[in-house]
Amino acid sequence: MKLRTLPESKTYGPPGMCIYCRTPEPDPPRYTREHIVAYGLRGNLVFRRAVCQTCRDKTHEIEEFCLQETFRVPRIVAGWRSRHSPEPTTVRTGRPTPGMASEGVEWTDTPIEDAPLAYGSLTFARPGILFGRAPHEGFHVRPGRPLAHKPYPEEWKKAGTTIIATVKPALWCRMIAKIADAAAVAELGFGAFEPCLPAIILGDDKNIGHLVGRARQSRVKVPSAPYHIELFIETGYVIARVHVFPDLGFNAMEAIVGTPSPAFNVRALHAPKQILRARPVKLPLI
Ligand SMILES: [Zn+2]
Repeated sequence: MKLRTLPESKTYGPPGMCIYCRTPEPDPPRYTREHIVAYGLRGNLVFRRAVCQTCRDKTHEIEEFCLQETFRVPRIVAGWRSRHSPEPTTVRTGRPTPGMASEGVEWTDTPIEDAPLAYGSLTFARPGILFGRAPHEGFHVRPGRPLAHKPYPEEWKKAGTTIIATVKPALWCRMIAKIADAAAVAELGFGAFEPCLPAIILGDDKNIGHLVGRARQSRVKVPSAPYHIELFIETGYVIARVHVFPDLGFNAMEAIVGTPSPAFNVRALHAPKQILRARPVKLPLI
């Protein structure tokens, strides 16, 4: 059952506690605002005074890596810039040996205009919990279709030179978990569900593939946008479908946000806005 589709742009909050560790905001207020989707991914969903400093440091580390490494080339292709980092002018290129992790490859900086701007996505398994699998560390994942925005030069092909990007599945999924949890709290409130993603976001739970993975119908065509986020209830869980780079061939992802609280009034969420205002849903804080 579908609950919400998030708008592309909205300001929420403040929620009164940190949306990740659930610590109440001290007085005087000192929590900082949170971009539900990173600004570097064109995120324009802002949660005011929503994150404590400890959680900010952890989520910043995840986003910094994903934006600068994993999604560096897609961001260049999309023409998206960072607020703080200088505009990229080069990409990393090198010759990976078969089977070798890209992390260990020697690379050189190549000007963007000389590179084919190729990138690949990862195809994750669906979240294990939905299929009754036991929690486990590690990922069932295979490389997605490589995509290039210019043909590879002949000499590159001969030499086996490619674009180098470091992809860490755990950080990729933790970024999706972060977006999912923040979006669900923003739209549904703390009381609506018993959360299960914070430990994954903050790095305390390593069974990431149990709760985060590829979405069902992950290739569904969506209207052109920087991202799409949907919240729904299925098989007894509140789930977020998070699609970043839908125009660039990436799969939609899914994260199990939590279990609905008994007091969670699903019907009220579907009511027209004026009825919601007249009869606000009261949800207990958990
Ligand atoms: Zn926190």
